Amino acid sequence: MPYSCKAYSATSATSPLAATTISRREPTASDVQIDILYCGVCHSDLHFARNEWHFTQYPAVPGHEIVGRVTAIGSGVRKFKVGDLVGVGCFVDSCRTCPDCRIGLEQYCPEMVMTYGSTDKHLNAPTVGGYSAGIVVTEDFVLRMPANLSPSAAAPLLCAGITTYSPLRHWKVGPGQKVGIVGLGGLGHMGVKFARAFGAHVVLFTTSPGKAADALRLGAHEVVFSKDEAQMAAHANSFDFILDTVAATHDINAYFNLLKRDANLVLLGAPGKPLPVAPFPLIFRRRSFSGSLVGGLPETQEMLDFCGKHNITSDVEMIRMDQINEAYERMLKSDVKYRFVIDMASLKT
Ligand code: NAP
Ligand code: ZN
Ligand code: ZN
Repeated sequence: MPYSCKAYSATSATSPLAATTISRREPTASDVQIDILYCGVCHSDLHFARNEWHFTQYPAVPGHEIVGRVTAIGSGVRKFKVGDLVGVGCFVDSCRTCPDCRIGLEQYCPEMVMTYGSTDKHLNAPTVGGYSAGIVVTEDFVLRMPANLSPSAAAPLLCAGITTYSPLRHWKVGPGQKVGIVGLGGLGHMGVKFARAFGAHVVLFTTSPGKAADALRLGAHEVVFSKDEAQMAAHANSFDFILDTVAATHDINAYFNLLKRDANLVLLGAPGKPLPVAPFPLIFRRRSFSGSLVGGLPETQEMLDFCGKHNITSDVEMIRMDQINEAYERMLKSDVKYRFVIDMASLKT
């Protein structure tokens, strides 16, 4: 028997999010039931709530940066006990047998079940995310949160953290390399922190001149105002690697020109409209343009443990659940310092 739970949902692409009630499945033998304490607000939540990716089913409940406490476990659960502080990120299941799943890259599994916007096989209904009082997830897709980190500031690690950590690790970013991070929002500020922690020379590109001091405080060595052509030109052909976290359509070609020969730009931002690519900046210096999706379960746990060891969390602004629509408007104005996190106690009272 499913049980009901308080949540916030959008009922159409143009309606604000509002209070609602959702169904969660009763925990099966392998499930963990979680009381959600905090949920980060990712720009993907906004893209999804407003159907900018054209697959949203309504009512839509976003949220995939979830931290909470285990309140019940199924009879077969071995990894967690009641009371544990746990995290849930962008996906809650996968096939577990395909080549991607077998090497811990569940995010690339053709049957990956997203935390919201997929189908819950147990309820045969759309999955609904972390803007809710609780969630039920199979234990293999639940992460352990480091005890020394603030649970609210650690919530954004579940998406913004792993999404930047994974490509920086995959492309072996480290000492002696000049690395660019484009956009100082939720992903961007974590990208700056990780690139710095991995020993690279970090350059932050921003369209917001007012963020320069914060960028340096967060770990950037240099800040470039990307609308200034002279500042951009001064960095031509000099980067080993660039991570682009911009949530809107923008001129990506300007960044290809900043890469060295054979260097790579990884796109993380997922605007609803295509980005025009000019051939020559890629062709003439054999540059690469690629993408990356969050990170698999083993790497997400590795990232959380790395953050625990090095005391890395997100810089957060706490909000109440009923401030979510205001938070979305601020996110659209690039006015987030640097991740909104919902205190889920505000939904439960
Ligand atoms: P965010 O907090 O809103 O940050 C995006 C930043 O991009 C802004 O703070 C701003 O930085 C810059 N920006 C925004 N509009 C711009 C424009 N028109 N031109 C140039 N720069 C602009 O968003 P987020 O949560 O970090 O997410 C960023 C994107 O990544 C979203 O599209 C999201 O869906 C996507 N995403 C992808 C993955 C993945 O696995 N690949 C995972 C999570 C999120 P400045 O003020 O510094 O310019
Ligand atoms: Zn996200
Ligand atoms: Zn699979």
